[in-house]
Amino acid sequence: MNKQFAVIGLGQLGSSISIELTNMGCEVLAIDIDLDKVNDYADVVTQAVQADSTDEKVLLALGIRNFDHVIVAIGRNIQASILTTLLLKEAGVKEIWAKAQNDYHEKILKKLGADKIIRPEVEIGFRIAHLATANKILDYIELSKDYSIIEIEVTDRLIGKSIMEIDVRANYGCNVIAIRRDRSVVVRNIGELKLKHGDVLLIIGKSEDLERFEKQGV
Ligand code: ATP
Repeated sequence: MNKQFAVIGLGQLGSSISIELTNMGCEVLAIDIDLDKVNDYADVVTQAVQADSTDEKVLLALGIRNFDHVIVAIGRNIQASILTTLLLKEAGVKEIWAKAQNDYHEKILKKLGADKIIRPEVEIGFRIAHLATANKILDYIELSKDYSIIEIEVTDRLIGKSIMEIDVRANYGCNVIAIRRDRSVVVRNIGELKLKHGDVLLIIGKSEDLERFEKQGV
């Protein structure tokens, strides 16, 4: 059975999460206090309900404890976000992700036991700064403080060569984990594959090594 999600708050973040989850085939219960928002998404998600998520009785009546994963996408109304997270925790929801508006909000949500804090502006700002300074990099995913994955398009210098010939591991200390080619992703026997125009390398490594590869390797 597909994982069941509930998304509370249909602002920009909550609505885009709900749409994408639905597109991926997940069951989504969307909750918002604003009836207009609920009507806008009634035909999009599995079920859209108008409710105040700070009302414990309402949450329990919606069977919130049966959902595998609940995302609190309320930002501006910090009080409602905090109270909702607390009620979800008390109801025993296993996985709670919550959007934080600022550092204080984040600290409180963590203390209440939210499993992941979402800071859209901070996360997007980080990625944009990296994308803006590294013009060959198509995407950037930070795995930890030290490690990241980058997507980088091969340049003329690499076309016709194989990963083994370039020897990214020995020369730059990072690993090519996959090659995106013509809409598919190649993960097996990539070492011998001759690179073609348009190929995209997915590389994992320490951020400083990836930066060196981006500056000198492609
Ligand atoms: P975004 O940037 O994602 O648009 P935001 O940070 O501006 O969102 P808000 O506008 O405060 O966040 O809230 C997002 C949604 O949450 C709104 O559609 C709002 O109606 C809904 N919401 C706020 N309080 C509650 C509540 N107590 N119960 C249910 N929904 C709520």
